[in-house]
Amino acid sequence: MFFKYRILALALFTFGLGCSSQSPPGNIPTPESHFGFIIGADKKLAHPDEINAYLRALDEVSGRIIVEEVGRTTDDNPYLMAYISSEENIRNLEKYKEMNAKLADPRTTTDEEAAEIIREGKVIIGINESIHATEVGPALAGIVTAYRLVSENTPYINSILDNTIIILSPNHNPDGYRMVVDWYRKYVDTEYEGSGLPYLYQRYVGHDNNRDWYMFTQKETRISIKKLYDEWHPQVVVDQHQKGGGSRLFVPPFEDPWEPNIDPILQVNSNMMGTFMQNRLVAKGYTGVDANSTYDSWTPGRAFHHYHGSVRILTEQQAQPHGLRPAKQTQADNGPSSTRYHGRAASGILQRSWNIHMKPRWLPWNMLH
Ligand SMILES: [Zn+2]
Repeated sequence: MFFKYRILALALFTFGLGCSSQSPPGNIPTPESHFGFIIGADKKLAHPDEINAYLRALDEVSGRIIVEEVGRTTDDNPYLMAYISSEENIRNLEKYKEMNAKLADPRTTTDEEAAEIIREGKVIIGINESIHATEVGPALAGIVTAYRLVSENTPYINSILDNTIIILSPNHNPDGYRMVVDWYRKYVDTEYEGSGLPYLYQRYVGHDNNRDWYMFTQKETRISIKKLYDEWHPQVVVDQHQKGGGSRLFVPPFEDPWEPNIDPILQVNSNMMGTFMQNRLVAKGYTGVDANSTYDSWTPGRAFHHYHGSVRILTEQQAQPHGLRPAKQTQADNGPSSTRYHGRAASGILQRSWNIHMKPRWLPWNMLH
């Protein structure tokens, strides 16, 4: 079945887009059976406790996933990471972690050893969902990502599982996401639906929690650095966000400027992977995807990965208008001036350009379209 859900595109663009004709094994719970709604349905957000319970339920029945509580957040909520790969790779997780640690440290590794690790090891991919808690799409996408990887047996998914170890942080700001979901559920279908939180969705730094990557002042930042970067040295880290307007989905290449201390090989790999993602999205008919606009790669405050050997992939999916309220979106919600291109307002998303291959279709717009 070709998946039609936009949120599924968000979930798996990292690996390119695929399709599956196979039903999941009977004992693997579907998201719909666990949450009671289709992920991405209007007015339905998944609570972090429900997300954590779902990942643990997958862990119970599948050898492809291990879920670990890797720390406690500022408000003493659990911070989870899910390790997902083939059953054989999961059985040998510690071995691959040690191999990658050696690869990451040339002081202890000869060129010959490095070459062997590159041949025999696995690509480590970190995925960070919804560090900005009001950007709810990525947290939902993480559910679908985990489900597809654990349940599907296509050559496409099996190839991903055989060659990579994916470390999914299902929620990079569990405290804030909890606040957002609780607030939304409290006021859904009232006149206050869609209203903003009256308090910060990270207790101390609010939206600036993703500018903490050179000061490391917050618990969530430190957990991520300790458990993802220091232990696993991922080759690729995907940060999934949502934005207010402009194109429907931003993917790399980033626009200038690039911070000159970033290794050029990381820059070209980010460009290459982003262009590949665009290739797959265009091939599947997803319109309104742009690159090389709006988002640069300058500040170390947002891009720890680039200083620690990882290719950074940022995606910015267009959020629904009017806050969290699922709504139909029209062209009026997305003026052409809302996409910056090389620092200036551009008619960008309404015109075909080298970095925008298909103009967005102004169809009804919600999580599922
Ligand atoms: Zn964001």
